[in-house]
Amino acid sequence: EQRVKSDIEIAQEATLKPIQEIADQLGLTEDDWEPYGRYKAKVSAHTLKRLQNNPDGKVVLVTSINPTPAGEGKSTVTVGLGQALNRIGKKTVIALREPSLGPSMGMKGGAAGGGYSQVVPMEDINLHFTGDIHAITTANNALSAMIDNHIHQGNALDIDQRRIVWKRVLDMNDRALRNIVVGLGGPANGVPREDSFDITVASEIMAILCLSTDIDDLKSRLSKMVIAYNHSKEPITVSDLGVQGALALLLKDAIHPNLVQTLENTPAFVHGGPFANIAHGCNSVIATKMASKLGDYVVTEAGFGADLGAEKFLDIKTRAGGIDPSAVVIVVTVRALKMHGGLAKDELKNEDLEALKRGMVNVEKHIETIKTFGLPYVVAINHFVHDTDAEVQYVQDWCNKNDHPVAVAKVWADGGAGGEALAKEVVEAIENGKKDFKHIYDLDTTIEEKIQTIVKKVYGGSGVEFSSKALKQLREFKEQGWGNLPVCMAKTQYSLSDDPKKTGRPSDFTIHVRELKASIGAGFIVAITGTVMTMPGLPKKPAALNMDVDNDGLVSGLF
Ligand code: ADP
Repeated sequence: EQRVKSDIEIAQEATLKPIQEIADQLGLTEDDWEPYGRYKAKVSAHTLKRLQNNPDGKVVLVTSINPTPAGEGKSTVTVGLGQALNRIGKKTVIALREPSLGPSMGMKGGAAGGGYSQVVPMEDINLHFTGDIHAITTANNALSAMIDNHIHQGNALDIDQRRIVWKRVLDMNDRALRNIVVGLGGPANGVPREDSFDITVASEIMAILCLSTDIDDLKSRLSKMVIAYNHSKEPITVSDLGVQGALALLLKDAIHPNLVQTLENTPAFVHGGPFANIAHGCNSVIATKMASKLGDYVVTEAGFGADLGAEKFLDIKTRAGGIDPSAVVIVVTVRALKMHGGLAKDELKNEDLEALKRGMVNVEKHIETIKTFGLPYVVAINHFVHDTDAEVQYVQDWCNKNDHPVAVAKVWADGGAGGEALAKEVVEAIENGKKDFKHIYDLDTTIEEKIQTIVKKVYGGSGVEFSSKALKQLREFKEQGWGNLPVCMAKTQYSLSDDPKKTGRPSDFTIHVRELKASIGAGFIVAITGTVMTMPGLPKKPAALNMDVDNDGLVSGLF
């Protein structure tokens, strides 16, 4: 049996075009972009203005069923579908998130696609790339320094040190930093207080960068961020400190979308990567809009399954960016469906048609959700080598029997060629499918009603239980005038419910909202169910153990 090549080996064999050629192919002029080395560029956010009269391309959102811990291949299918659409003659641009370094060092698996459907240069994209995430780290921590300095210098704003909600960040999985004390060492070294670190992609600044439409909007959102409460329990914002200008300045390059290409030279924007739990989990509005002004089709993705990423894309990102989606691709894998049919993690490789049959209820629910949003959809079966023909056939037959458009995607093994059937289904869904896009909730309903609506319509739950803390926050947030913001749900990705063990399609369950968080700059209220990890830890055997670089600069072990 032939050894399967690793993602990095495949990526290193690719013939990349100079980024100039990719930019030319898109019709970008020299004033529009700046090279970052030979294969990466930043396209100025201002270019959107020049392109404003271009017609909007069709935006295709790639989502999935509730995944297994390994991920079901949304990024891979996004890249593969983009390549495939180009192969069938549709001018397509891909829009993806930037990978965070923390998980890259931790769990195996990058975030730049996989197999023959990757964005490249993957060793850059998966490491420091164009420095956007570092810029966000710096802006975030500059704000922390300003807060501590303000208190040290006399605390004119009367900030209650026990109610500082702004945390420091680092783009690393580092559990030792979750709870810390700063300001130790006597009066010359600041005022001691408890603090903590989140991973950079969980910073509200990352969410803001991704939802802003230009630098003015960025600055205005930064100024509204709530950093603390004073002793009268009133919110203190960045504008009270007066540092929104400095923060925007630190992000002046990070706001420009990064242009790269796929293994088959399809143009791809890789820009912004907010956490999909504490934030909305989608790449930047600017990149998606730019892609839609430059291509006839845009393929983009949102984190986790359709209950989380797609809901937030459709209720939060489309509102912030004025984006009108055309269709949704729901990625399924035989292994995840079998997990929803009750199989344990170590049994997923065995053929089991009965488990598969039981597991179909999970995709059925997600299809219903996308229908509720009024969008055409296609089910994409992300094909794995150990899937048996009978299993793949079963999923196809089930879709056909229930009138769900479906295609097998072999984009991991065969690149764009393996995605042509899917591409054709997507074009068909857009051209002939029924579309009547509507959000799940209206903004002028209360926060509580919005959460109820999501739980009932998207998760299929029976109701919501708010903790006493959450109930108190509901009242306080309403008084602050934050009631009309959209809601960003933080929930386990493994189940439609808030219990990761409830696979399949649970019914009659209640969602428990433990706490709310006001992300006023990002423009949403986070509803936290269960425990939300905002600073992950490294596993026993981190992926870092496999990584190396030799004296010629050749990288290995990066997936
Ligand atoms: P998601 O975006 O849903 O998290 P990814 O596309 O990042 O998933 O894929 C997760 C991992 O699984 C990657 O390492 C990728 O290479 C691998 N993968 C995806 N699809 C396949 C497939 N069909 N066969 C084998 N490996 C795959």
